[in-house]
Amino acid sequence: MDHSQEIKAFATSLGFDLVKITRADTLSDAGLYYEEWLKKGLAADMEYLKKDSSKRYTPEKILPGSKSIIVLGLNYYKKEHEFREPFRIAKYAQGRDYHKVISAKLKKIGKYVEEISDTNPLSKSYVDFGPVMERAYAQKASLGFIGKNACIITREYGSYIFLAEILTTLELTPDKSTKWKGACGTCTRCIDICPTRAIKPDKTIDSNLCISYLTIENRGDIPLALRPKIGNWLFGCDLCQDICPHNVRAQPTKVQDFQSIPIGAQNISLSQILSIETDDEFTQIFAGTPIMRAKRRGLIRNACVVAGNLGLKELVPQLQKLTQSDDPMIAEHAAWAIQQMT
Ligand code: SF4
Ligand code: SF4
Repeated sequence: MDHSQEIKAFATSLGFDLVKITRADTLSDAGLYYEEWLKKGLAADMEYLKKDSSKRYTPEKILPGSKSIIVLGLNYYKKEHEFREPFRIAKYAQGRDYHKVISAKLKKIGKYVEEISDTNPLSKSYVDFGPVMERAYAQKASLGFIGKNACIITREYGSYIFLAEILTTLELTPDKSTKWKGACGTCTRCIDICPTRAIKPDKTIDSNLCISYLTIENRGDIPLALRPKIGNWLFGCDLCQDICPHNVRAQPTKVQDFQSIPIGAQNISLSQILSIETDDEFTQIFAGTPIMRAKRRGLIRNACVVAGNLGLKELVPQLQKLTQSDDPMIAEHAAWAIQQMT
């Protein structure tokens, strides 16, 4: 008996905006592309992307006997910027941590899948950091197409969606593959707007240059030549999505958790960020938000770069104090920021 429609209906009832199914095939072409991308060093120092890389495109290695992948999309778009300061934070981070929100829903769907059939199917679910090439499987499932900016772009919501996937040993009916008319075509808007030239013409992103990587995953210095190009991005960057013509279809998220940032981080100023002295203080402010990922020293490093780029002279006394920090990374970025203003 095919349970595809019941599973889709259940996932939709939990708030997922898009639910598609594809077969749990090995993606050889996407795998080759991914291995090449790693070999060229374009994953920067994100070691988790390199570990067991073949798992990402070989579902059998993640869940032996897997037959189907349920690919889920959750729209997170919000128009309003929550922060009163002149810095910017990527839209996906302007709400509660999506891992927490989505994991809770995935658990319920996983349980539903395992109990729906008397064949005792197994399931494994992932959101974002899991070992699955989620955009490639989302494209295979016809949830959207991968744009030149490397985002999955959906017909219904554009690219501001979180992806999640459930691998299962249950045989389900895959969605028919879609021909994406008018996908990227000759458009190069995202390539042209990227301040650091991180998007290559072959849809490859060089993470070493991408502001999202530099301000979130990067644990070290931001290269000097790239600092001015970061402008006022404090955490992440949305430029290549905001410019995409497919995002005219973006519509406000229905998920309350994504509509506003948790209370502690609301209305925080750059000055307050520069004053955070301990990891505990950082956690008190940002707990439950994706901003935790940058950690205290990463966020202060970013705040120094933004202050330097915006020439915020009123922050010089705080920056001067930070030049005495025990952390050489913070001290150096603070000194750089002051230099930009003199
Ligand atoms: S996120 Fe920003 S820096 Fe990264 S590729 Fe897109 S426009 Fe470029
Ligand atoms: S901006 Fe243009 S090239 Fe870039 S992803 Fe969107 S449609 Fe494709």
